[in-house]
Amino acid sequence: MKMISTRDAAKVGWSYKDVLLAGLAPDGGLYVPSEYPQLSRAELETLKSAPYLDIAYAVKKKLIGGDIPDEELRRMVEQAYSESSFGAAEGGNIVPLVKVEEDFYVQQLSLGPTAAFKDMAMQQLGQEMDYELKRRGEHLTILGATSGDTGSAAEAAFKGLGTVTLFMLSPEAGMSAFQKAQMGMLSGGNIFNISVRGRFDDCQDLVKELKGEEEFSKLGAVNSINWGRISSQVPYFVSGYLQAAARVGDPVDFVVPSGNFGDMLSGYIAKQMGVPIRRLIVATNENTVLDKLFRTGVYELASAQVTSSPSMDISKASNYERLAFDVLRRDAAALTKYMKEFESKKCVDLKDYGASADDFAALGFSSDSSTHANRLQAIRDVYKKCKYVIDPHTADAVSVGFREKKQDSVPMVCMGTALPVKFEDTIQEALGFIPERSARFKDLEKALPENAFHVIDIDAEQLRQYIRANA
Ligand SMILES: *Cc1c(COP(=O)(O)O)cnc(C)c1O
Repeated sequence: MKMISTRDAAKVGWSYKDVLLAGLAPDGGLYVPSEYPQLSRAELETLKSAPYLDIAYAVKKKLIGGDIPDEELRRMVEQAYSESSFGAAEGGNIVPLVKVEEDFYVQQLSLGPTAAFKDMAMQQLGQEMDYELKRRGEHLTILGATSGDTGSAAEAAFKGLGTVTLFMLSPEAGMSAFQKAQMGMLSGGNIFNISVRGRFDDCQDLVKELKGEEEFSKLGAVNSINWGRISSQVPYFVSGYLQAAARVGDPVDFVVPSGNFGDMLSGYIAKQMGVPIRRLIVATNENTVLDKLFRTGVYELASAQVTSSPSMDISKASNYERLAFDVLRRDAAALTKYMKEFESKKCVDLKDYGASADDFAALGFSSDSSTHANRLQAIRDVYKKCKYVIDPHTADAVSVGFREKKQDSVPMVCMGTALPVKFEDTIQEALGFIPERSARFKDLEKALPENAFHVIDIDAEQLRQYIRANA
């Protein structure tokens, strides 16, 4: 398996292990496989009733292409998706489907330690990075910024790993008490939580500033463009397909609530690998950058507004570049020009590059968006139909899914990306009550230890000093 950069016309090539610890490629592009490995019908058949560990192992093995020894990969998958992290799942299925009505399902991706789907990728990434760092005899200091789900998922995955020290910036105001407690409880050892007296953008700017400096240029990242994360999300699409399809070979549609386009991209990769997925439906909230893109072929930056599905409040979708590369027939020179035009004009049209929204449709894509009112309605509808409570991000997918469901018997699977316990205010607004919390989340907010966050001003010097003192 050779990895190439979307912006490298010479197609130089790296190994999976090379790109695991990297963010952007040296030329500013994103890493993609030189070709998509294939899962045959026979292979899908053998996985049909296999536990998730076997599916994750088989799919990652294809995507890693022999670059990590099989027994090491097996050990990592077992560690990442262990019972202690995901609970004792029925038949080893940690990504089960909830049947809402005939041929309509929600796939639960949020049974991991921090109750959001980001655990699925982060748990595996933590194991793979630890393996690679040990092999190289290196230690990595990671500096990240979070507005919510990513920070706690990364901390839960990297906690206690001897090869990594993690510094995570978050805004002092803006995160929920629940999210703060989830992170604060993980402070200590190799995890450092830093609270910035500012907003999420200020945190991101501080990260950018330090990484641009010689002393801190080697700091690692765990953001959603990391190929290790994207590739670790493919297995749950394979599992969702196998659970929903009556027979291997039957078509299944997926609806994915999208922000940075990481989750949806992994579904696209599953389809490219030969999983018989029919439609890939992108669901956005009021931040409709992606919805417009898939309808019109015009990719236009927009300032993000705050919504009740906050993890999808984005102004651009970083992982889209990987799909654009395929739509532009893997022409790195054209892709580079396309992305540069987007970066300078904040808007670019596929039509100027010999492609159009029809090319998305040909690959199975379509899109739609939802509003706060739509989400509340979807939460109520699902509760009424099957007594299951979905979170506001899952509600974006379900709302779009109900509208897009064709009058045929092709199963539709909506990705369930968080547990409702993380967003109780919206659940209260929709249902008029809040479901009782499971034991592990009871009084979580009260468990926030004192001094769990080191507080700094929006001041790079304070950050430098803290990292120097603790790295
Ligand atoms: C991150 C996140 C999303 C969006 O996923 P992308 O991969 O960025 O498209 C959706 N829902 C929840 C709960 C998330 O945390």
